[in-house]
Amino acid sequence: MIVFEGVHKRFGDSVVLSDLDLAVDPGEHVTLIGPSGSGKTTILRLLMCLERVDAGTIRVGGRYLSHMHRRGELVPADEKHSRDVRRRIGMVFQQFNLFPNMSVLGNLIEAPTRVLGLSRAEATERAAELLDMVGLAEKIDEHPARLSGGQQQRVAIARALAMRPDVLLLDEITSALDPELVAGVLRLLRRIGDTTDITILCVTHEIGFARDFSDRVLMLDGGRVIEDGPPDQLLREPRQPRTKEFLAAVL
Ligand code: ATP
Repeated sequence: MIVFEGVHKRFGDSVVLSDLDLAVDPGEHVTLIGPSGSGKTTILRLLMCLERVDAGTIRVGGRYLSHMHRRGELVPADEKHSRDVRRRIGMVFQQFNLFPNMSVLGNLIEAPTRVLGLSRAEATERAAELLDMVGLAEKIDEHPARLSGGQQQRVAIARALAMRPDVLLLDEITSALDPELVAGVLRLLRRIGDTTDITILCVTHEIGFARDFSDRVLMLDGGRVIEDGPPDQLLREPRQPRTKEFLAAVL
């Protein structure tokens, strides 16, 4: 579903990803862990075409993103191609990023009507179903500023799902929440994981959540994946000293 091959990414003099290989199967739930600055968010931003690789290739659902091979050369993908692939990917950010000037309903129907071409009635029906699923049906006409952080994050998740994505990218989505609101968001994600076949790639510092939500955990360091395994093994009995050290610091 998602394949990175030999991806290099630098910002100025700083090399963030170096010959990175990574593969996520359809429907898999994969968590990225690693020290601050190890490039976890950059991987998600590359998938959203918010950044471009310096070398290497990224494929989503068999289609090249950012760069395509043509007769052995690397050429940038055109904008339309990137847009088509990106449309199938939903992303939820640490800071929710809801449209502040729109109601909850407005947030949920904006992209489905504008990008997918759904009628307002169709998009509204879907929004109501999703709000029901995230437990916020009664907030449909509310503005984001009047919701708690946990509620805003659940709306952001519903907004991403409204686009019926094949892939969901979650970037530390509980980091900005008060501790008592984290459990509700994580419960919702578990439900999404159990009831859909969406491929989920998430960056989190919630090791407990990574343990019971993920099929696989990838440890990043020095611009590449240094350890890759099922959560029970990687989080309990890491093989790499660097993973051990990292887990000892965050647990
Ligand atoms: P954290 O856990 O702290 O969020 P991360 O593993 O997600 O870290 P990234 O956000 O991917 O790390 O950043 C990797 C490195 O790239 C960092 O050193 C960061 O400062 C740098 N970086 C990221 N984006 C940019 C940018 N647009 N311009 C310059 N440097 C950047």
